[in-house]
Amino acid sequence: MSAVEIDGLTKRYGDVTAVSELSLSVERGEVFGLLGPNGAGKSTTINVLLGFLDPTAGSVRVLGTDVTEDLQRVKRRVGLLPEAFEPVPNLTGREHVAAAIETKGADDDPDALLDRVGLDPEDARRPADDYSTGMFQRMALAVALVGDPDLLVLDEPSSGLDPNGVQLVRDIVREEAERGATVLFSSHILDEVERVSDRVAILRDGELAAVNSVENLRAEL
Ligand code: ADP
Ligand code: ADP
Repeated sequence: MSAVEIDGLTKRYGDVTAVSELSLSVERGEVFGLLGPNGAGKSTTINVLLGFLDPTAGSVRVLGTDVTEDLQRVKRRVGLLPEAFEPVPNLTGREHVAAAIETKGADDDPDALLDRVGLDPEDARRPADDYSTGMFQRMALAVALVGDPDLLVLDEPSSGLDPNGVQLVRDIVREEAERGATVLFSSHILDEVERVSDRVAILRDGELAAVNSVENLRAEL
C-alpha cells in the first residue's frame, strides 16, 4: 500500500483549474518532493490530501484511507505544516503545541518538541501573534511533528526561514525518514527539493510535468 495515492485528481476554483488530472503515488518511507513555481497547484494538491478541499474529480487515498470517507482517521496519522498556519489569538507557542498534542491524543512532551525545532523556551511562553516568521514557522513545525506522524506533509517548509532554519528543516526531514515516516513536501526551489528527496514530481500549471528520482532529474538538467 502506498502512503499517498492520487488518481486522476482535478480541482477547479470556478473557472480556474488549479490541478488537472494529476495521478501520482508516494511509497511508504519515501521522501517525496512536489516541485513547481507559485501557482502550479502544490498547495491545492496538499489541501485535497488533507481533506480541506473536496476534489472536483478523481480520488485521493492517504495511508490506505479515502480522505473523503474517513478524514479523522487520516488526520490522526498525518502531521501537516500548512502554507499559512492560522494561530489562535493570544495562545503561546507552547500552548499551540500542547493543544495539538491533546487533539491528537499523543503523549509528546511539548518542551522536547519545541527544543527540537529550536524555539527558545522564553519565546515559547509568549503569544505566537508576536512571533517573527521564523519563530512562527518553527512552532508550526513542532505542531506538525506531534504524535510521530506516519506521513509528514510540509507545504513550503523553508519559506521565511533563515539559513539555520532551512538546515533545521532538512535535518528534520532526514530524521523523520530514518524513523520510517513518509515525507511529502512542496517547494518552488529545486535545490531544496533535490537535497532531501528520493523522488520528485514537477508540477506546472496544475499538470504533472515529470516524476523522477533525484539522480535522473539531475541527469536531465
Ligand atoms: P502553489 O501552491 O503551487 O503555489 P496553488 O495550489 O496555491 O499553487 O494554486 C494553484 C492555482 O489555483 C493558482 O492559479 C491559484 O491562483 C489558484 N487558486 C488557489 N487557491 C484558490 C482559491 N481559493 N480560489 C481561486 N483560485 C485559487
Ligand atoms: P509572506 O512571506 O507571504 O509575505 P510572511 O513571511 O509574513 O508572509 O509569513 C509567512 C506565513 O507565516 C504566512 O502565511 C503567515 O500566515 C504566517 N505567519 C508568520 N508570522 C505570523 C504571525 N506572527 N502571525 C500569524 N501568522 C504568521
